[in-house]
Amino acid sequence: MPDMKLPMPSNKTIALVAHDHKKADLLEWVRYNRKILANHRLYATGTTGELLKRETGLEVISFRSGPLGGDQQLGAKIVEGEVDILIFFWDPLEALPHDPDVRALLRVSVIWNIPLACNRITADFLISSPLMTEEYERTVPDYEEYRKQRASKNF
Ligand code: PGA
Repeated sequence: MPDMKLPMPSNKTIALVAHDHKKADLLEWVRYNRKILANHRLYATGTTGELLKRETGLEVISFRSGPLGGDQQLGAKIVEGEVDILIFFWDPLEALPHDPDVRALLRVSVIWNIPLACNRITADFLISSPLMTEEYERTVPDYEEYRKQRASKNF
């Protein structure tokens, strides 16, 4: 499959999600990086977003709560090229009713080749990268070509 390039601007759109036992961790991370994050557009699932807005005063665009479809909304934004980075502190120690949505969000992040941090150390390395404030071209497979090939196939 051929590749194509998708531009990422210097001001990124960052999606933030944390499961309940990880919310305090994400909040602390956001507080610590408040100044940097204020220069980017922030998206979040419902409860995470409300918490971050209330506790940090940052502008955050909140979607539905994760268990009510918020993960899927963020996933759709990734597919549409509207999210550049996903910070997703998911909980490896708890079974959740919306596990399929969680897995789908992780899956589309990999498909669309966006930086994905699932723990604090990765988020630290990510946010301190010089690429955070530079334009970047991310390489993704040319899915249009893939779609055409599949559409012309005789099923
Ligand atoms: P929440 O959703 O921010 O609404 O808690 C997070 C999630 O469970 O995916």
